[in-house]
Amino acid sequence: MKIKDVKTHILSAKLTTPFAYSRAWYDTRTAMIVEIETDNGLIGWGECYGPAVMTEAVVRGIKPWLIGADPLKSDLLWEDIYARLRDHGQKGLVIEGLSGVDIALWDIRGKYFSCPSYQLLGGALRDDVQAYATGLYRRKEGNPLEYLPDEAAGYVNEGFKAVKLKVGFGVKEDAAVTAAVREAIGPDVELMVDANHAYDAVSAIQLGRLIEQYDISWFEEPVPPEDLVGYKAVKAALTIPVAGGECEYTRLGFRDILTQNAMDIIQPDICAAGGLSECKKIADMAWSFGVRTNPHVWGSGIGIAASLQFIAMVPTHTPVSLNPKQPIFEFDQTEHPVRMAIIKDPIRHQQGRIAIPQGPGLVLKSTVKRFRRIR
Ligand code: CA
Repeated sequence: MKIKDVKTHILSAKLTTPFAYSRAWYDTRTAMIVEIETDNGLIGWGECYGPAVMTEAVVRGIKPWLIGADPLKSDLLWEDIYARLRDHGQKGLVIEGLSGVDIALWDIRGKYFSCPSYQLLGGALRDDVQAYATGLYRRKEGNPLEYLPDEAAGYVNEGFKAVKLKVGFGVKEDAAVTAAVREAIGPDVELMVDANHAYDAVSAIQLGRLIEQYDISWFEEPVPPEDLVGYKAVKAALTIPVAGGECEYTRLGFRDILTQNAMDIIQPDICAAGGLSECKKIADMAWSFGVRTNPHVWGSGIGIAASLQFIAMVPTHTPVSLNPKQPIFEFDQTEHPVRMAIIKDPIRHQQGRIAIPQGPGLVLKSTVKRFRRIR
């Protein structure tokens, strides 16, 4: 089997209602999809996190090295592409492009051997996974102290047992909003907060001390991803577990987080940190440091499907026992017109849990025609 063609698709759709996190407004959702075709007619799908026009350029640059190669040699191809681009891209866009390619190769591998991709990476540790609702962004209209608790209560009514709140809008405002959301969801639903690295360590610690009383499951990206010293200061000052890593790349980047003991929970993104191959290695490495892995998930149905294949294999957080703590899946609930429109069987939660799809590859039936129309 040989790779015959590599195509890229940029999909973009305007939102009906713009929303903001701590650093920017969104009015459009975009996805960069990788399609790899083999000479025996298999098609593998992947997705790249990051700026679509830039990751598309990376994948187009990689394409000539893939044509004619054996798609089952995905580790060899990964190492080859990484080595060719090492001098120019050990982190960021290059690895995001490589991630989409690696995911598509894992889709092909599963289809070739007629089993889910996770079977070929060691097998599943679970059949389903608890999801948390990612939402609670800011809007142009209304009072966040009113609309955020209402939105959070809506997720709880849908069956979610965990929700994540966006913070990073100022310490006092964040603390007030966190209190309001905790009151709205009650004491039994998990609450996480995510600053998207809007703070320095001083402000992050101030906020953390104000919200420790609200039983926060983790404080995500309190400080910029490069500031591991800041992470360590936040981690030392607070009882809230500190999470991060959606802006980190490859085993080498996570090696530094782990050896510096900078985070309690790492959040590699399958579509950014190096693909399924690399994230499996990262999760295994984190296990050896006693650090939890909960993947960052922010993409279309293809990225979500790949992330479900991944979380099926993530080691339990506490050691295997009668009731070990399990990883939890990020399930974006914000508007994304492309998200489930590009796969035939949309991925849904039932009472806050998602079943790991069973079938060949990433287990998604994509229709090229359908998503080309969206473009
Ligand atoms: Ca985040």
